[in-house]
Amino acid sequence: MSWPKRQTRPRRLTVPLPRSCAKQDLKQRALTRWQRCWDDGINGRSTYEIIKKVGLRNHNWTRQLIQFITGHGPFPSYLFRFGKHPVNCCACEEPGTPFHYATKCRLTLSYHLKCSADQHIEAWMKSITNQSSGVCCGVML
Ligand SMILES: [Zn+2]
Repeated sequence: MSWPKRQTRPRRLTVPLPRSCAKQDLKQRALTRWQRCWDDGINGRSTYEIIKKVGLRNHNWTRQLIQFITGHGPFPSYLFRFGKHPVNCCACEEPGTPFHYATKCRLTLSYHLKCSADQHIEAWMKSITNQSSGVCCGVML
């Protein structure tokens, strides 16, 4: 009589998880995938500078603040992309971006925001989004 050969590999044990664990796991996988796309993407980079981490939290930004951060609004730089404006420049011949109108354009001088030095612009933009809804951007748009 011979004994059966001993298994060298451990047997795989499958234990069904509760539905809530599966749901949480899928959510985490989706967020990880979304974060990877957001980090490597080419679109939305101005927003990426403000919000680097994806999530399901609503930031409750005002429409004007969203337009300022994304650049998707009634600005020559945006409208030009779709052929809705003849040039992508402001009347002062500088790029017609929201940032230009808010900080540098001599035509909107009375509405200007105080902007810090170039090396602190990212922090300045983040501080704008943390302020209460659109105090600064409601004036200019
Ligand atoms: Zn201008």
